[in-house]
Amino acid sequence: MTPTAAELDAADPLARHRDRFVGSESPLVYLDGNSLGRPLRVTASRLAAFVDDEWAGRLIRGWDESWFDLPLVLGDRIGRVCLGAAPGQVAVGDSTTVLLYKAMRAAAALQEGTGRTEIVIDRDNFPTDRYVADGVARECGLTLRWIEVDTAAGVTPELLTEAVGERTALVALSHVAYRSAHLADGAELTRIAHDAGALVLWDLSHSVGSVPVALDAWGADLAVGCSYKYLNGGPGSPAFVYVAARLLEGERSAVQPIQGWMGAADPFLMGPTYAPTAGIRRMLSGTPPVVGMLAMQDMLDLIEDVGMDAVRAKSRVLTGFAVERAAELLPEAALASPRDPDRRGGHVTFTHPAMREVTAELWRRDVIPDYRDPGGLRLGLSPLSTSFGEVERGLEVVREVLDGLSG
Ligand SMILES: *Cc1c(COP(=O)(O)O)cnc(C)c1O
Repeated sequence: MTPTAAELDAADPLARHRDRFVGSESPLVYLDGNSLGRPLRVTASRLAAFVDDEWAGRLIRGWDESWFDLPLVLGDRIGRVCLGAAPGQVAVGDSTTVLLYKAMRAAAALQEGTGRTEIVIDRDNFPTDRYVADGVARECGLTLRWIEVDTAAGVTPELLTEAVGERTALVALSHVAYRSAHLADGAELTRIAHDAGALVLWDLSHSVGSVPVALDAWGADLAVGCSYKYLNGGPGSPAFVYVAARLLEGERSAVQPIQGWMGAADPFLMGPTYAPTAGIRRMLSGTPPVVGMLAMQDMLDLIEDVGMDAVRAKSRVLTGFAVERAAELLPEAALASPRDPDRRGGHVTFTHPAMREVTAELWRRDVIPDYRDPGGLRLGLSPLSTSFGEVERGLEVVREVLDGLSG
């Protein structure tokens, strides 16, 4: 017997954290935490205090006192709490898209003159990742080698092994696939890329704050990820970039193409020409978006408090419950995510030809999942803010809507 949502909520050690989120008291069902996490209640007071105490109170002095270092202080923190990254390798700033561009260009520069001319990327990687790779390839005279993947699955070791070789410069992959939630084997795929002599860039947008990541242990070279999904940083909060320490030193170290003063050797020397500063700060370009870095600090506090392993444990049970209840309630829909919880990230997708229409009607009824082609109803289950009851109610309303369409 499948336990009921009420039983699972009663047994959930993280359930008590749910009412820390603004909106958790309302009957609205929110199943899109992987697109935009809910705000924490403490974030409202952090934002107000920032205006009064730091912005108005410190004015320009704030830069010297903390804002100048915030991109790296926060980067170290994300690295420690969520990414398995030692200090000095993560910086916050820019959008994921811009950081993908910087990281891919840095990889292309590192491989210049090696005869490696291909970027390997999968056909179902997130659109911005594919578009940026395409642009970088054209700028740098490289070509793309596509891995064809099943949209209900993702890149496996077998698929990657077939795609890489002596021409591979860079392998660019998502750790959790945005459509299917397929969870790639980070350690194994990194090893395969390295055995072929390639660099590897991980997009962690759908894993950070949901699935434990171990960049240093994998031996990853580069990574990027979003902060407004499972890190609840708010709309447009800046992304992070990871560059392995070994690529930040020596003659052939990573350099990125947007040579701004904030990543230069001495920004206040205001010298005649650009030279990248030492360390991860060189990934910065211009003035960092300090206001956008506030909210995610509250979510990092909470994740650090409960631990990523507890977050992942709940995520497995929550997505498993969605899979089982959907099989009972929505037998006509197909599971388009891995059934094996070890290969599944924090969201679940179900396909049915009517799902686009269903999603529009769900939004009108205050049940908020999202829709991804082809026919996919995608449920993003943020472990700290989503209850089993919410998943149950959401799936029941999907049932009602499907009945209404055919009736
Ligand atoms: C959400 C997401 C992005 C978003 O990029 P932005 O620049 O923030 O719009 C990029 N890549 C992946 C894999 C994502 O899931």
